[in-house]
Amino acid sequence: MSLAEASVVQQDWSEFSRRVLEGGALTRAEAISILQAPDEQLLSILDAAYAVRRAWFANTVQLYYLKNAKSGLCPEDCSYCSQSKISEAPIERYAMLNAERLLDGARKAAESNSRTYCIVASGRGPTNREVNHVAGVVRQIKDQYGLHICCCLGLLEPEQALKLKAAGVDRVNHNLNTSERYHPEICTTHTFADRLKTLSICRDAGLELCAGMIVGMGEQQGDVVDVALKLGELNVESIPVNFLHAIDGTPLQSQHELDPRYCLKVLCMFRLTNPSAELRVAGGREVNLRSMQAMALYPANSMFVSDYLTTPGQKAEEDFRMIADLGFRITAGDYESAKLLELWKVPHAVSCGAASAGSCGSGGCG
Ligand code: SF4
Repeated sequence: MSLAEASVVQQDWSEFSRRVLEGGALTRAEAISILQAPDEQLLSILDAAYAVRRAWFANTVQLYYLKNAKSGLCPEDCSYCSQSKISEAPIERYAMLNAERLLDGARKAAESNSRTYCIVASGRGPTNREVNHVAGVVRQIKDQYGLHICCCLGLLEPEQALKLKAAGVDRVNHNLNTSERYHPEICTTHTFADRLKTLSICRDAGLELCAGMIVGMGEQQGDVVDVALKLGELNVESIPVNFLHAIDGTPLQSQHELDPRYCLKVLCMFRLTNPSAELRVAGGREVNLRSMQAMALYPANSMFVSDYLTTPGQKAEEDFRMIADLGFRITAGDYESAKLLELWKVPHAVSCGAASAGSCGSGGCG
């Protein structure tokens, strides 16, 4: 053993999980220490995070299905996003999908045993006409499929949030994306405060909140922890953690700084700082976690199935196989595992028809 290896102090990570399970919290410095831990301590960190995940969610997995309801054409300049005005990524661009297309997405969500159908539209924020359209379709989806509905439509006005709530929308996604400190580095057309305001408007309208971040955009480890602590303060119900899928044609196209071990430590840190929140391993899962994707479900208890906004994901049947291999159970849906595998044997078409660029949170207006 080298001197350097011998000097690594083994932290008692189980003390973190014990404290959290007893209702305590980690300090900012302790949360950062998880991200800085040597790789040889990763299994102990995963064990601590898994103890907390088990206490709230046992071995269940919640699935989410995304529909890119409106693609590209966005006047904002989010540097990670393939749909922004400054992106040269060759994505498909289209206006808000009609009711039939959105209902078709809901059918696929139900067939994939997803608990939640996410309707995502590019843009700074929706027009009132777009909100009325989505609200009308949501009523039909609720009648036909009874799915949990999450809308991600950008910055919202109070009346728009109330209209979505009245139509039966359960939750709104609006990611913080990064810390307040780092936000001006990734977007100049709206502020971190704008994002907080929309979350506050949605909370006041009685909607559940889904808000997360994109890791790997050049931020510091303290920024990642600051987002986790802020989301804890906001008491959000659902946290999607995206890992940057750098897209050619975007300003962050050359940003490739993540490795699978760090991604897992990030998820563990989020679990230990937000013990009761639904934690989702979101966009960039396949490209950044690679062969270690399954391990993400020890700290996280949810994931997207099938494709992202403008990039294809792992085949749904492989997702189902991964969950079954872990011995975990999908929480909702009417289809048995065998039927699921049969339904999804032939890969469904990429939902938006584009084969490149973007991913949920790293390419959509959340
Ligand atoms: S993340 Fe949303 S607001 Fe930002 S550029 Fe992309 S579509 Fe526009």
